[in-house]
Amino acid sequence: MKIKTIKKDDKSLNLELVDMDVSLANAIRRTILSEVPTLAVEEVRFIENTSSLYDEIIAHRIGLIPIKADIELFNFRDECSCKGEGCGNCIVTLTLDKKGPGTVYSNDIRADSKTKLVEGIPIVKLGNGQKLSLEADAILGTGKIHAKWQPAVASYKYYPKIEITEKCDSCGECVEVCPKNILEISSEKLKVKKTIPECIVCSQCMEVCELDAIKVEDDNRRLIFKVESIGALPPHEIFKKSCDILESKAKALSKML
Ligand SMILES: [Zn+2]
Repeated sequence: MKIKTIKKDDKSLNLELVDMDVSLANAIRRTILSEVPTLAVEEVRFIENTSSLYDEIIAHRIGLIPIKADIELFNFRDECSCKGEGCGNCIVTLTLDKKGPGTVYSNDIRADSKTKLVEGIPIVKLGNGQKLSLEADAILGTGKIHAKWQPAVASYKYYPKIEITEKCDSCGECVEVCPKNILEISSEKLKVKKTIPECIVCSQCMEVCELDAIKVEDDNRRLIFKVESIGALPPHEIFKKSCDILESKAKALSKML
């Protein structure tokens, strides 16, 4: 089994997985969606809300704001030594106090030094003299309880394999129909550009070719795995954490046997 990085930045990670069983890739994907924990707001206490939105709508919007933090520093509230009462190891208290006119953004919410909210997310627009003042508790949770704790969107597909045979007369019709602009005619020859992973195996090039000169299929030895973070955790950390969770589950199972 081999891993190659196709693309990596603070929001997305694209990996090429060679000789990895598709069931393992799916287990990693499912673990990312439902088991990798993040922080999200669970309770909101309104002190004053004279905005045009109901408390419930504002609480819901705040709940969906991604919170950046080192998750290793926190315990799940029901597993914490405080026995679910709430302490500094399982709860982060956020505060918001803003007077209109103006838009309230996630940047207006104050957190402690261990946490940082993703900036630039609008919450509500305040009119002249309107006020929003509240306190919110963020706790650790997982995507299987509520989607607000889901750290990323994860998916995989087979690596596309594109074959061009000698029969090709470089008519260029396949270049025209390709929705992803993967093919090109260069020096009067049909060539594949470097962006093969972007091919969606739609087969339009095969259908339009009267000479059967191009063949596109899935390479079932290679997978492209994509992780797109919502902003709370870096994508490579999410992938790594899901592998750690799977490993610890397998170890626990093996110990039981
Ligand atoms: Zn606690």
